Amino acid sequence: MTMNKLFKALVYDKQVSLSVLDTTQLVNKAIKIHSLSGRSAQLLGELLTVCAYMSGCLKSPKGAVSITVKSGEGSGSASVSGDIDLHIRGYVDGSCRSSLKGGTLTVIKDDGFSRPFVGACEIGGDSVSRIMTDYFHMSEQIPTAVSVGVKLSDDGSCAAAGGVIMQLLPGTSQENMDRAEERMQAFADPAEVIARCGAEGVIRQYFDGEIEQKGLYLLHPDYVCNCSRKKIESVILPLGRDELLAICVEQGAVKVHCHYCNTDYTFDREDVLKLFEENE
Ligand SMILES: [Zn+2]
Repeated sequence: MTMNKLFKALVYDKQVSLSVLDTTQLVNKAIKIHSLSGRSAQLLGELLTVCAYMSGCLKSPKGAVSITVKSGEGSGSASVSGDIDLHIRGYVDGSCRSSLKGGTLTVIKDDGFSRPFVGACEIGGDSVSRIMTDYFHMSEQIPTAVSVGVKLSDDGSCAAAGGVIMQLLPGTSQENMDRAEERMQAFADPAEVIARCGAEGVIRQYFDGEIEQKGLYLLHPDYVCNCSRKKIESVILPLGRDELLAICVEQGAVKVHCHYCNTDYTFDREDVLKLFEENE
């Protein structure tokens, strides 16, 4: 059972949607799978946390969301994606030590019905919180305050990760806007707050009396890759039998790597022949 938590509730006269996340376990899984450290661990951890939040907002069973950031000099990128089951995954490519400022953010939201919504914008700040706050404001035109963070231990593991996100619903009064804005200031270092009191503690200590209890619910995001040998088979199948056999001759086998979970799938000559027997 996953210990990751995403609390969702309405606060301040039901005019503000509040999300509180504890993604410590999820981020630790990512760090382990990808052997991440320092800035890369932080960056991917924060993106995974935002992705967990956005996945929690999906409505359709086929819904999916992905977020990609590319650094200014184009030397590194990080990509995360999630679905309605709150299965979140991601990877870092190249060096993300350089500044993200001047780079690009791309968000793809697929509601499973119509065409996916694609939002892209230039990155104006260096933190994921700032980047995503800008994104919601500019691309989705929804005033949203995002504060996500990752705190690393001396041994390189994640001590705490999570965040607090508040989104103003249409018609929010000036008074409640001010209250939300003021409250957000308590979460300048969200990982520290999660380390100290956990997601429940945030709800209890910072929103006591403000929450509509009936509407409070809890979701459990987790780091899960949806890849499988069967799925990879359907990806390589269109290349055709001859092409795949040629690769086997040249390289010994057809090798497919899943970036999200760092798994290698290998299909040798026998596997390829069998694959086409099954699919004919
Ligand atoms: Zn995978």
